[in-house]
Amino acid sequence: MELGIYVHIPFCKSKCYYCDFLSYPSKEDNYQAYVDALINEMKAHKIKTNKALTITTIFIGGGTPSVLPPILLERLLVSINENFNIGDKAEYTIEANPGTLTEEKLNIMKKYGVNRISIGGQTYDEDLLKTIGRCHRGEDITNSFILARDHGFNNINLDLMFALPGQSLDQLKETLDKVIRLNPEHISAYSLIVEEGTPFGDLEERGQLILPSEDEEREMYYLIENYLKKNGYKKYEISNFSKEGKASRHNINNWKTYEYIGLGLAAHSYYEGYRYSNTCNMDRYIENSHDLQAIQEDRQQIGLKAQMEEFMFLGLRLTEGVDVADFEKRFKQSIDSIYGDQINKHLKNNLLARSGGRIWLTDYGQDVSNMVLCSFLLD
Ligand code: SF4
Repeated sequence: MELGIYVHIPFCKSKCYYCDFLSYPSKEDNYQAYVDALINEMKAHKIKTNKALTITTIFIGGGTPSVLPPILLERLLVSINENFNIGDKAEYTIEANPGTLTEEKLNIMKKYGVNRISIGGQTYDEDLLKTIGRCHRGEDITNSFILARDHGFNNINLDLMFALPGQSLDQLKETLDKVIRLNPEHISAYSLIVEEGTPFGDLEERGQLILPSEDEEREMYYLIENYLKKNGYKKYEISNFSKEGKASRHNINNWKTYEYIGLGLAAHSYYEGYRYSNTCNMDRYIENSHDLQAIQEDRQQIGLKAQMEEFMFLGLRLTEGVDVADFEKRFKQSIDSIYGDQINKHLKNNLLARSGGRIWLTDYGQDVSNMVLCSFLLD
């Protein structure tokens, strides 16, 4: 059985203008207390899981986990190893931002089993990096990537963003050229989403944020898709591309709705049939993390209907789509008895395709994926 761990590090060097993740810039004073709290939470889970469960994917994300100083990074990784039974072939990822990786940190990551680095590059264009509030330069992406490679990491992801304010196709192409030269195993490419309560959200409200049109956004997506395909990357999810055998298991497990335990401030979990999240209050988390009940909120049992919706909603994001037999195995009902009407309508309109026991979004279906996916919500 697949079981993942997600560890949230809610610290960053500065706040990007589009970001609504729970992450605090310049909170170095909290680093130590936070890592101590994470370790307490892990110990509490150890009692619960009693080492009986094997962890198949670990993802340390944020925020920017690579801002932690080496001594705290090492304590965190030691504690993960001590408190969870990590499978021999587990995928073990740490997110890093350009300019925050050092030889010492990479050696520590390697020593404790990290085997995948995910670097938040976003764009190589210096003006766009400033426009979106990133605190690194284009050359930092290359330097961090090469440093990780030189330390033996042979599974590296680069995160990219597109449809940025004022971004042109030429700027995007230049970024893709530079990324391809690095030859990462995995590339994620997400279109900018403007969230309320962020500096970009405020600018948009005042009508001062000029974004590419919907057609331009689609054109950028096709450019990425075609360019990466030409260069040996397979699209396995709407926004994720990888070399053969390097698709992220952590990502896939989420889309296949496998369970995971989230550790840290505001971390979400899906475990033993319940979804819940940890408190967003830093002081409360630090004080109470040894007591799982005191930090967990919004605990909801995921009923059969919600499980089916998630199965379709998330599974259809994968290029391979959903497995008809897997639906039946999990829910003891055929996919057609629940979703026959929607499936047939979308097949007729060329939004879905079906063959060999699988159902997936067509290219056209991916362009309007939100509409298609929403149709799988049950009343
Ligand atoms: S580095 Fe990532 S988590 Fe941190 S502020 Fe920027 S987008 Fe948000």
